[in-house]
Amino acid sequence: MTPDFRTTARKHLSRAKELLASGDDADLEFVALKLRKAMEALTYERSKIYSDDLGPEAMKTWQPRKLMQRMLEVDPHADKAAQISMGREPSPGKRPETMRLLGTDNVFDMKTLKKHYDALGAYLHTETLDQLYRGKTHDLEKLRKRCDAIVEAADIVLDSKIWNSSMANRGEIECHDCGSIIRRRLDRDGEPRVVQCWDCNASYTLTDIGNRKVNFEPRMQDVPCPVEGCSGSFPLWERELVAGTRWKCRDCGQALRLAPGVTIDENENTHYE
Ligand SMILES: [Zn+2]
Ligand SMILES: [Zn+2]
Repeated sequence: MTPDFRTTARKHLSRAKELLASGDDADLEFVALKLRKAMEALTYERSKIYSDDLGPEAMKTWQPRKLMQRMLEVDPHADKAAQISMGREPSPGKRPETMRLLGTDNVFDMKTLKKHYDALGAYLHTETLDQLYRGKTHDLEKLRKRCDAIVEAADIVLDSKIWNSSMANRGEIECHDCGSIIRRRLDRDGEPRVVQCWDCNASYTLTDIGNRKVNFEPRMQDVPCPVEGCSGSFPLWERELVAGTRWKCRDCGQALRLAPGVTIDENENTHYE
């Protein structure tokens, strides 16, 4: 059974609120711990809809920020709120005349995670020796403000009546270079986007081809063989278009290397500064 991270997050958040309400600064480090766990649980909950795309092994070990980063690579919409509406189609495929808003799926976004998750971590440790020697202690007033801001953001997410929605157009492909399975989704606007294989960094342009299908176009360039009389060319991946890449011409067998080039300027009258 998959854990109910949403309930876990709610428990951590409610304990954090109780501790904050005490007004006792000594409670703040426990609040920080509870809020970190709440942020982790909210991110793990969101990751459930991407479990197939992310792969089970990787998901077990990732920190929330890394996990969210990966989710965003799968789906640019992963950390954005979505309004879910429903309507009856007058005929199949026709847009409904009236739509009823079912609710908004609010997500704990990357920006908030980045802003607060690591910052809270500092309060879970004793000040560094350097800080202590300089007479610096944790700024508890600042910490309280930070905790209030996290509570506010988490409340919005947990108040959503709908969660873990995703309407994105998605597709998968076996990487042409290494054979790994790549699963990615398009953003809501359906605009093409560049995606990368996590195992070999081969890149693809992901485009909408209609009927809720997507296409992965390998981002490669044919590089012509420079040997005189040879008309061969070799496809290089975008990531290989750097000085030092080596290959063998399939037509003439010549070993080749990509190098930055300088050639003779035929126009001798050019004026140089
Ligand atoms: Zn690959
Ligand atoms: Zn050649």
